[in-house]
Amino acid sequence: MKISSFIRFTGFGIKTILLKKKAPIIGTVIVTDRCNLKCKHCSVNNITGIIYPYSKIREDMQTLYDMGVRILFLCGGETFLWRDGEHTLRDLVAEGKQMGFLSVVVFTNGMFPLNLPEADLIMLSLDGDRERHNAIRGNTYDTIMENVKNAAADNICFYMAINRINKDAVEDVCAAARDTKNVRAVSFNFHTPYPDTRELALSREEKAACCDVIKRMMKSGAPVFNLKCAFTYLIDNSFPTPCYQCVVIENGKVSTCGRCVDVPGLCDECGYFYVAEYNMIFRGNPKAVFEMLRTYFKYI
Ligand code: SF4
Ligand code: SF4
Repeated sequence: MKISSFIRFTGFGIKTILLKKKAPIIGTVIVTDRCNLKCKHCSVNNITGIIYPYSKIREDMQTLYDMGVRILFLCGGETFLWRDGEHTLRDLVAEGKQMGFLSVVVFTNGMFPLNLPEADLIMLSLDGDRERHNAIRGNTYDTIMENVKNAAADNICFYMAINRINKDAVEDVCAAARDTKNVRAVSFNFHTPYPDTRELALSREEKAACCDVIKRMMKSGAPVFNLKCAFTYLIDNSFPTPCYQCVVIENGKVSTCGRCVDVPGLCDECGYFYVAEYNMIFRGNPKAVFEMLRTYFKYI
């Protein structure tokens, strides 16, 4: 991260903490919900199948920018399926940079060649070792790892949603993040139980056991892109929701935190680590701020 960007984020953070502001800094544009996979834990793929046109996505980006957002996430569905005539995902990243976003992050399932060196970070879903990842995501593990190995840049961060199928593979994913070329770190979430995937939710005890493994792996030097101090709140689901520093926009509709904000009761069972982490950081929790600085400088 550039020093100038860091200074701007710090300024935003100080203002948010001191003035108890609720302005967003991180914004997600949904470019499509079309996806080439049908993962077992997913409730949001191929509902409309629409690939939004370039002009619409540009408009959504501008809306976020005008709201004060400076970190842009591009999400799907599968982002690499996005296309509009000659325009590809690469053009969306370039557009985001040109518009003035300080950081542009792309989320992907990793099934397409990762030729995206302009992205500040590529968040790539890896849900376990080969066996457990494939149990959730179909026979995709080998293709993904091959694409990671051949990626155009070392801007990849693994992203694991821990559920009842893969809860015993946390260590494997930490080790893969540590040992795989082009990968900087891994970031975790617990499964957020949408009504159609409730059976995959972890119990409090299972979450605690996963956090113990993550802590142990962090201690042994595995590159984990999460804040240890948030674990207690994640295990107990005792963090405040939603996260006001994050917004999502899809086809002009803005939601605070995530589109899941509309699912009744879901926020009480939220498994997204970033919600707990950002809420702690932007409420001025000194431990969270310290851990965030250490983690970001190390991996971003
Ligand atoms: S790759 Fe992502 S969007 Fe597609 S089915 Fe899996 S979790 Fe859902
Ligand atoms: S479940 Fe609620 S708190 Fe969690 S990401 Fe979705 S909107 Fe945010």
